[in-house]
Amino acid sequence: MLKIRPSLIELQPYRAEGEEKKIRLDANECAGGLPPEVQTEIANALGRIDLHRYPDILMSDLRKEIAAEFSLSAEHIMIGSGSSELLQAICHVFGGADCTIVFPSPSFSMYGIYVRLSDSQGEAVSLEADYSLQAAKVIEAANRTQASLVLLCNPNNPTGTVMPQADIEAILQGVDCPVLVDEAYYEYYGQSSVNLLARYPRLIITRTFSKAYGLAGARVGYMIAQPEMIAAVHKVLMPYHVNALSLAAAGIVYANRQAFVAGIQETKAERARLTAALLKMPGVTVHQSEANFILLRVGNAGDLNRLLESRSISIRNFGQAPGLCDCLRVTIGTPAENDAFLQAVIDFCHSDKVVV
Ligand code: PMP
Repeated sequence: MLKIRPSLIELQPYRAEGEEKKIRLDANECAGGLPPEVQTEIANALGRIDLHRYPDILMSDLRKEIAAEFSLSAEHIMIGSGSSELLQAICHVFGGADCTIVFPSPSFSMYGIYVRLSDSQGEAVSLEADYSLQAAKVIEAANRTQASLVLLCNPNNPTGTVMPQADIEAILQGVDCPVLVDEAYYEYYGQSSVNLLARYPRLIITRTFSKAYGLAGARVGYMIAQPEMIAAVHKVLMPYHVNALSLAAAGIVYANRQAFVAGIQETKAERARLTAALLKMPGVTVHQSEANFILLRVGNAGDLNRLLESRSISIRNFGQAPGLCDCLRVTIGTPAENDAFLQAVIDFCHSDKVVV
C-alpha cells in the first residue's frame, strides 16, 4: 500500500469547477481580462526574455516597484507564485506540530488545507449570522489556544463582508502572534491595513495579481511585512519560485495599474446592479459584498445551479458546506455575462421551484 504522510490521507485537494463552461463566474477572476494595450505590451516583452537564464533570484525590480507604492524598501516585500504560495509558506513558517492557527469560517477554503499541510492545529472562528467576524471571538480563540498565527480575510471570500480597521487593530493588540490579513480583493474595497504595519510589526498583508489585475493565469502575488518576517518566509520558498515570464507580466501590469481602474469601477457598478436586482427576487438573500463576487442564499440552490449549468454558466455552489448551506457565489462578470446570470435567476424564481 502507498505510504504517505498520515495527515494527507483524508485531505481533499482544491477543485475548480467551471473550466468547460462558456460563462465562467466561479473563480473570482477579472471580468473582461487585461486591457488590450497591456496584453500587447506583455506579449512583446515575453518574446525578449532570455529563457535559458534563471530569473532574477531576488526579484528586485518588482519588489522595489511595489515597495515604492507604500514608501517602503524592497526588504518589506516578497513575491510569490500566486498569493497561495505565500499563504502556504507563512503557515509553514509560523505553524507546525503543537502550533495552532486561527482562521475564520466560512472563509477561503485553502486556509484549512495549509494549516493541515503544515501539521498545525486549526482553530476556526465562526462568522455571525450576518457574516461579520467578531474581533473578541478571534482574540479569545487565539489566546485560549496560544495560537502561533491568526489568518484574516478582508474582504472575506466567499461572503464579501469586511472587517472594520478598528477590529483588525483590536486583534493586533489583543493577541501576541503574527496576524495575516489576506487582501486578495482589496482593489474592489479600497481599504487596507497596510497603514498599521509601522505600529504593529507582527502584521502581514498578502495581495494578488489574480483578481483585479487579471493575471490569474500567470500566478503572481505578494506579501508586505517587516523585513524580519520576509526573511523568515524566504527560508521555506524554493529558489526561483516565480518564473521569469510571470515576473515580467506582473511588472508590466503593475506599471500600468492605472489602466485597470476603469475595469474595477465597472465591476463595482455591476456588483451594485446585481445586488439590487437579486434583492428584489423572492426567496433570495444577499449580503452587501465589497469584493468581485456576491454570495446568495436561495431555497433549492442545487436546482438553480443545475439551471445555470444547463445554460453553460458556472458559479460556485457551496452545497452543504458548514455555514453556507444553500449558498451560491457568483463572480461579477462583464455586463452581458451578468445579464445572462440574472436572467437565469429570474426564470428560476418565477418557476415553481423556489421555496419562499
Ligand atoms: N486569498 C483569497 C481570499 C482567495 O480567494 C484566493 C483565490 N481564490 C487566494 C488568496 C489565492 O489567490 P492566488 O493564489 O491566485 O493569488
